Amino acid sequence: MSTPLPEGTDSSVLNLYEKREKIYVRAVEGFFQNVRLYTGWPLLIGFFGCPWLMWDGHQSILFDLPERKFHIFFLTFWPQDFPLLAWSLIIAAFGLFFITTLLGRVWCGYTCPQTVWTAIFMWAEQVAEGDRHQRIKLDKQPWNWEKLWRRSLKHGMWLGFAFLTGLTFISYFYGMRELLIDGYNLQLPLVAIFWVGFFTIATYANAGWMREQVCKYMCPYARFQSAMFDRNTLIVSYDAARGDPRGARKRGEDPASLGKGDCIDCTMCVQVCPTGIDIRNGLQYECINCALCVDACNSIMDKMGYERGLVRYTTLNQLEGKGWTWKRPKLIGYGIAMVVMITAITVVMLTRTPLEVDVLRGRGQLFQEVPGGYVQNTYTFKLLNMDKIDHVYTVSLAGLPDYRIVPEGPYDVAAGEVGEFSVNVIVNPDQLTQVNTPMRVEVQTKEGEIRASSKSTFIGPRPI
Ligand code: SF4
Ligand code: SF4
Repeated sequence: MSTPLPEGTDSSVLNLYEKREKIYVRAVEGFFQNVRLYTGWPLLIGFFGCPWLMWDGHQSILFDLPERKFHIFFLTFWPQDFPLLAWSLIIAAFGLFFITTLLGRVWCGYTCPQTVWTAIFMWAEQVAEGDRHQRIKLDKQPWNWEKLWRRSLKHGMWLGFAFLTGLTFISYFYGMRELLIDGYNLQLPLVAIFWVGFFTIATYANAGWMREQVCKYMCPYARFQSAMFDRNTLIVSYDAARGDPRGARKRGEDPASLGKGDCIDCTMCVQVCPTGIDIRNGLQYECINCALCVDACNSIMDKMGYERGLVRYTTLNQLEGKGWTWKRPKLIGYGIAMVVMITAITVVMLTRTPLEVDVLRGRGQLFQEVPGGYVQNTYTFKLLNMDKIDHVYTVSLAGLPDYRIVPEGPYDVAAGEVGEFSVNVIVNPDQLTQVNTPMRVEVQTKEGEIRASSKSTFIGPRPI
């Protein structure tokens, strides 16, 4: 049973969910729309192209989960390198904070995959259903043959592009060639089919149906960006001092004599906005800084013979006639943090040894007596060759008196492989001074340019 509202309460103010108004975005041409094309294309070419590009015998970017290797062009990351990957992501996050403090949400407006994919889906919609007016008309008209084929064409294009996206995304984990060959031979595992289907549907829903809803309600970045904004951050803004009072007028009429500002209230800036907001209402969290409203308004200003820039990129300070400065604590802080982290990770990557040594003692045995009065411990040496070329390693032990290693080596390990060697270490017990003798297994390439080591213990009988 629902609780009755107090008398005089307007029930509309208690609605927790706003009904979605369908946005019919009008296509616009202009400088910033062209910039968006130039920033979107590299992303698309990179995303769809990388799985077809081979690098050092593997797909240029491949997250090989079964082999536990991540290939990113000339770099190969192993599970041991996970902190490096984590640091890379943290640096990327700080890069985003820095750019946002400086240039506002340009990432959202120009390069975010949601923006780029939505733009492609909008283009497909325009091809299938026509411009804004035609789409509004089509929505209102009853179902007939024309509506059916136009809708089918639109959804067919959306689904086709979404499927290509899903297939390409999974190829980063499965390998594009393997995916196509296994698919062609009907040998794709169910898990691969599931994930291709999942990402197809996710793309179709996000870019086709949900669009600005993703930016407004799902993307956490929209929510915390205000923490990075300050009065010198670049934003798209309407110049109210110049534009108000708004109102229609004939071309050639002097706005000042009519008591009006430069805004002719044509609503073009609203019609082109992919998030459906009116920039004249001030800075809003829905604004993705794409500047399509700038292009739209500039074209109106040109037609009216007014100066461009009624809606423009600016800052809150500049709108108030103040200057711009880079000397801002947030900007400097993010910049310093980024430079320090990039330097640290570069040093770590350049000095990283492409060899990992792991020494495991044989299970369940302390030591074994062998002919000649010697004692023997058995180990497994795991040598992870993280280099791009095969290597031959030699092993020596530090901390042990006279010892023998059987087999003596050298040990061959192919590039990118883990070599596992069962090894006996034999020692004269008379030379041991304690039961547990610490030792270090030192491994190096034959030429000695790559070295790594691992600690272990040699167990012998109690010294007499
Ligand atoms: S208000 Fe302008 S800049 Fe902001 S999202 Fe809309 S069109 Fe893009
Ligand atoms: S496009 Fe420019 S002139 Fe037209 S309503 Fe928007 S701000 Fe005013």
